[in-house]
Amino acid sequence: MTSDFERMLRWAALRVTRPRLAVLTAVHAHPHADTVSIFGAVRRELPEVSHQAVYDVLRALTAAGLVRRIEPSGSVARYESRVGDNHHHVVCRSCGAIADVDCAVGEAPCLTASDNQGFSIDGAEVTYWGVCPECLSAPVTS
Ligand SMILES: [Zn+2]
Ligand SMILES: [Zn+2]
Repeated sequence: MTSDFERMLRWAALRVTRPRLAVLTAVHAHPHADTVSIFGAVRRELPEVSHQAVYDVLRALTAAGLVRRIEPSGSVARYESRVGDNHHHVVCRSCGAIADVDCAVGEAPCLTASDNQGFSIDGAEVTYWGVCPECLSAPVTS
């Protein structure tokens, strides 16, 4: 497992460091986690790591394309390791749970805007909003 992450870092021309490995591991283990939970997971492995260090690593990994940063409106930034497939997200209005949603139909058709306004489009970010199954089945409390 660790050697996979080492390969990913080298592939992205990033030096292999313990904080980078720990952050990559945490993002893989906790998809759509926010900075606070990633920091908690990294701290369990590297107790001496600082909040700023984790934040810097997340920024470097995001810039290198190893990690994708999403920020549904009203939510803090979240990170995931599923990159490069232009998938979308569905967010629960009630508890904030996030799940992955593949492109609306077939092969990345979301990239074909009804009118591209002359832009060359290479990405689309769709956030579907609703209520997750757990919240739907939860008894209503007043
Ligand atoms: Zn929910
Ligand atoms: Zn996702």
